[in-house]
Amino acid sequence: MASVLVVEDDQFVRSALIRHLTEASHTVRSVGTALEALREVAHVRFDVVILDLGLPDLDGSEALKMLRGITDVPVIIATARDDEAEIVRLLNDGADDYLTKPFSVEHLSARMAAVLRRSRAAGEAPPSSVLRVGGLTVDPLRRQAELDGVRLDLTRREFDLLAFLAGRPGVVVPRKELLAEVWQQSYGDDQTIDVHLSWLRRKLGETAADPRYLHTLRGVGVKLEPPR
Ligand code: CA
Repeated sequence: MASVLVVEDDQFVRSALIRHLTEASHTVRSVGTALEALREVAHVRFDVVILDLGLPDLDGSEALKMLRGITDVPVIIATARDDEAEIVRLLNDGADDYLTKPFSVEHLSARMAAVLRRSRAAGEAPPSSVLRVGGLTVDPLRRQAELDGVRLDLTRREFDLLAFLAGRPGVVVPRKELLAEVWQQSYGDDQTIDVHLSWLRRKLGETAADPRYLHTLRGVGVKLEPPR
């Protein structure tokens, strides 16, 4: 299961892709122009982008270069042109793979699986990356956290937030950075962070008024440090 951005201006091809990908239990967003695609990847983190080369606003290779300028998300190019020289050039420009139209669902699934396998293998954390802050232990690899030897029951986001802060003990992390790193958003409202912080605090057995590990510095950011 992956989150996929489909960039395709042909309504027919687009709906077919969305249908197939959704049936394969992927999460799909779709846009019809390169500029919309750039806006999407700037704000949302996708596992893979399927990029049509014949878009109305930008030439395919331009679109790819601009995408590469802001993200390293895997890109699979979909092209109706069976032009080997161009495909080689695009692969050199940072495309991860390509499909020649018309392509079958099976073909697309196989290419996507290969690209995802590669990117996940590359992104895996090295072993023994367990973080310790006071009585708090965070294991990003197993996605487990313990407080004084007791396993914490955290949601995915709570864990990500805790792990990010535990990786920088004693450092005040600006809210903007938390949004970007934990939520993968370049904008958003502070409430999102506050709500998750308060849930996390409750699970750590502390409050904002009487903090032990989690310290909020008004207007500045958040810091995790061992209790004094
Ligand atoms: Ca097209």
